[in-house]
Amino acid sequence: MSRRELVVLGTASQVPTRTRNHNGYVLFWDDEAVLFDPGEGTQRQMLRAGVSATDLTRIAITHLHGDHSLGLAGVVQRISLDGVPHTVPVSFPASGATWVDHLLDATSYHHRADLALQPLSADGVVPPVGPDPGFTLRAERLDHGVEAFGYRLDEPAGRRMVPDRLAAAGIHGPAVGLLQREGVVEVGDGRTVRVEDVSVVRPGQSFAFVMDTRLCDAVFSLARGVDLLVIESTFLDRDRDLAHAFGHLTALQAATVAAECGVRSLVLTHFSQRYQDPAEFWAEARTVFDGELTVAEDLDRVQVPPRVH
Ligand SMILES: [Zn+2]
Repeated sequence: MSRRELVVLGTASQVPTRTRNHNGYVLFWDDEAVLFDPGEGTQRQMLRAGVSATDLTRIAITHLHGDHSLGLAGVVQRISLDGVPHTVPVSFPASGATWVDHLLDATSYHHRADLALQPLSADGVVPPVGPDPGFTLRAERLDHGVEAFGYRLDEPAGRRMVPDRLAAAGIHGPAVGLLQREGVVEVGDGRTVRVEDVSVVRPGQSFAFVMDTRLCDAVFSLARGVDLLVIESTFLDRDRDLAHAFGHLTALQAATVAAECGVRSLVLTHFSQRYQDPAEFWAEARTVFDGELTVAEDLDRVQVPPRVH
């Protein structure tokens, strides 16, 4: 079975704490591993979580505040040191390009990393680099103090063979693979069978990553119907005014988005150091969201929920 799992590296907002590193998340998706928002300390958190630099096939940055990007310097130097052989695309808001340049050239090291820089200046699909990753990655502009983009990953719909229909059509053995590849196959008596006749549509799985933002349309379109949503909830709702002033969400707002969008599994993260008890975030989110709920801790692992169809 393919690996589809989120590894949480860090869960603190602006200021790391004794128990929370700056942000950092690795989404393992089949043969791909996307590192989202490497905050300070990401290299060491990867070590603690058993994620190697060579695992990484893409880096996606929402915005150029330190808690989402200071770790890029260390991670890229490690990619370089380890001689990672493949190209690693790095996407980020185009307006942050100067800071990305600084982070990639922050200290003296041998520049051996093969990076493909992908500055984002508009909503849309972030093009793959190299082999087809088996998903599309889409970026949409959020509403924060500096330019920020959220991300959404979608697996294209496929087809699931129905054994009874295959048997009724007299298709078995190597003919099944042939039918999947060619879309049509001829059976013994001259009849042709199309793949649609013996299979049903299998919807693709999806994932969204929504960091620092006020509520805006993009939050909803990124989260719509995803299997797994990682979303910031910096504040509790009693501090809703502060959240709005600083361009952030509350746990109640984040969970309401998840409920309205039909999200299956919700991961809250990016907590302000002002709060001591994570249970408050859980309780607040639970008032409106009844799906799978995780108030993230560093080094948590959260599975993409199994397919329904
Ligand atoms: Zn932040």
